[in-house]
Amino acid sequence: MSESYHSWKTHDFKVKMLDWSAARGSRLVYTCRLCGRAFCSFTLRNNGAWATDGIGRPLENAVSSRWLSEKCPRNFSPNDNDDRKRLSKPVIQ
Ligand SMILES: [Zn+2]
Repeated sequence: MSESYHSWKTHDFKVKMLDWSAARGSRLVYTCRLCGRAFCSFTLRNNGAWATDGIGRPLENAVSSRWLSEKCPRNFSPNDNDDRKRLSKPVIQ
C-alpha cells in the first residue's frame, strides 16, 4: 500500500455521489468530518482521487497532491480556505 493510502485512511469521510457517467462510473465526493477537506474519485476509472473545493470543482495539482499525502489535520485550518481558492484550470477533453 502506498503512503497516500495510509494518509487517506486517517480522514473520517462521509461519501456522497455527485453524478454518474457510463464511461467513468459514479463520481463520489469524500468530505472529512474532522478537517472539512473534500476529495473526488470515479468508481470505474482507477486513476485515484483529487482534492476539490467541496462543490466538485477540482483544485490545483499542487494542492491536490499535498492534501492526499498529508494525514488528517483533525480540525479546520484557515490555510485550507486559501487552498480551496486555487482551482484547477478547466481541462478541455
Ligand atoms: Zn480529515
